[in-house]
Amino acid sequence: MIAISACLMGIPCRYNGETVSCPDLVKQCAGYPVILFCPEVLGGLLTPRSPAEICDGTGVEVLKGQAHIRNAEGNDVTQFYLVGAQRAAALLKECNVQLAVLKEKSPSCGLHYIYDGSFTGQLVKGSGVCAQLLKNRGIQLCNEAEMDVVSQYFLEKTNDCQR
Ligand code: SF4
Repeated sequence: MIAISACLMGIPCRYNGETVSCPDLVKQCAGYPVILFCPEVLGGLLTPRSPAEICDGTGVEVLKGQAHIRNAEGNDVTQFYLVGAQRAAALLKECNVQLAVLKEKSPSCGLHYIYDGSFTGQLVKGSGVCAQLLKNRGIQLCNEAEMDVVSQYFLEKTNDCQR
């Protein structure tokens, strides 16, 4: 089973109530069962909501209790992100997800880069909280630009079915 950040598939769950639909991904997944999930909504955050960023580290440090996530008003919203990541990890485990396609840059889903906490659009290397937890749990991950990984996954599944 494959799981995908819901906003990439047209669900308007981003902080501003918008989506970042990824046509290539939608096309690639047509006809296959997929699970759409949004860790921030699973954590209890509303849409729309104030944007938030990891302010003093990456997902690694947040999971260790060494960094915090604050929204644009300066409120500490770390707990929502931790709960959402745990619920997402439990959901993906229950559904036997082997590959998750995650939206880059997000403090939850960002895989290779995340916003640096300055709310200026600057990026730092590292993963968001949910991406890091899924990585720790051994789930294969890629972002929306890594369509070759998605293609390979579906190719292997198709070959498995034909054996
Ligand atoms: Fe998309 Fe993930 Fe942000 Fe939800 S938490 S809006 S799925 S990037």
